[in-house]
Amino acid sequence: MIYLDSAATTAVRREVLEAMWPYLTGDFGNPSSTHSLGERAADALAEARASVARALGVRANEIVFTSGGTEADNLAIKGIALANPRGRHLITTPIEHEAVLESCDYLRRHHGFTVSFLGVNREGLVDPDEFERLLTPETTLASIMYANNEIGTIQPLAELAARAQAARVPLHTDAVQAAGWLSLNVRALGVDALTISGHKLGAPKGIGALYVRGRLALEPVLHGGGQERGARSGTENVAAAVGLATALNLAEATREADAARVSALRDEFIGTVLREVADARLTGPAEHRLPGLASFCFTTTSGESVLLELERQGIVCSSGSACAAGSDEPSHVLVAVGYEPEIAQTAVRFTMGSSVTAAELHEAAAAVKSAVEAVRGIAR
Ligand code: PLP
Repeated sequence: MIYLDSAATTAVRREVLEAMWPYLTGDFGNPSSTHSLGERAADALAEARASVARALGVRANEIVFTSGGTEADNLAIKGIALANPRGRHLITTPIEHEAVLESCDYLRRHHGFTVSFLGVNREGLVDPDEFERLLTPETTLASIMYANNEIGTIQPLAELAARAQAARVPLHTDAVQAAGWLSLNVRALGVDALTISGHKLGAPKGIGALYVRGRLALEPVLHGGGQERGARSGTENVAAAVGLATALNLAEATREADAARVSALRDEFIGTVLREVADARLTGPAEHRLPGLASFCFTTTSGESVLLELERQGIVCSSGSACAAGSDEPSHVLVAVGYEPEIAQTAVRFTMGSSVTAAELHEAAAAVKSAVEAVRGIAR
């Protein structure tokens, strides 16, 4: 099997599992316990927090561990908005992950917020000047993703952050897909809050982290025992936090080399597919694209049928985001960037891990050609 669905999830890396193992077995203590087992767990958690903070270039007390990207996005948006409501105005984009869109919508429905959507062009890029025009003294928070999970668009985050800073509006970014490929240096990016998720990086599912700038007040979403300095109650998942820190640091160590190598392989794959498959359309940008992501629409097919045919040939990929897969709705991302719903239904996304090889992508490109032709043949 050739796995080209790394944006959906990744396998846990061996080094990550090895780093986690002691905290699942011998050193299994609760970090809130005062005995030595608890203290060892608390030490491991503190070290994991410091390590994630170093990778982001921030202070350890600015990191909150969560159950994943979805919870971190919820905590960022609801937590910052409810603690600093100002004029109850939010700015986001129509191509965010559902975790962001639904959190904004929750604030609209239950807390009287209004939500402005920043436009995106055909490639999914936002315009910093338009962003600046939307920022008002009433604006509570803006949330703009670093890189899109369906079409790979990388936003000009530092430029957006500069505009937000000038207007004194906090900016959150969902960096779930950017992690491992793009720099997460928060000071250079200038964002006030940033979400990452472990299972996209070789850590297990069910762990994520939110960076929140120290000065920003945060209302918790989960109430209880006051763990995570009151920001997120619930006994900490020590082993998974250690796993996230290990995975993030491993990814950071080879990030630039991986990004360069995989971008070149991806470009070759895109070139072959566009050349060999009739009426294939690349979705998302030609430049400013996540290194490991290639997404297409194969007109006059159905994305789901192409997926099934590809899987029969040993290639595993997805028709868009894993969350939307299986639903009949066309991708909200493709519709927002201007594709007709019928075309959006033909989308297929290939996402590569850092260890992808040229041979795998050659085989995948040949399979794409035959799968699309097979589906079109059946339709005729
Ligand atoms: N944000 C983006 C951009 C994602 O791609 C995902 C997962 O697909 C999430 C958030 C949610 O992360 P998690 O699966 O850890 O809840």
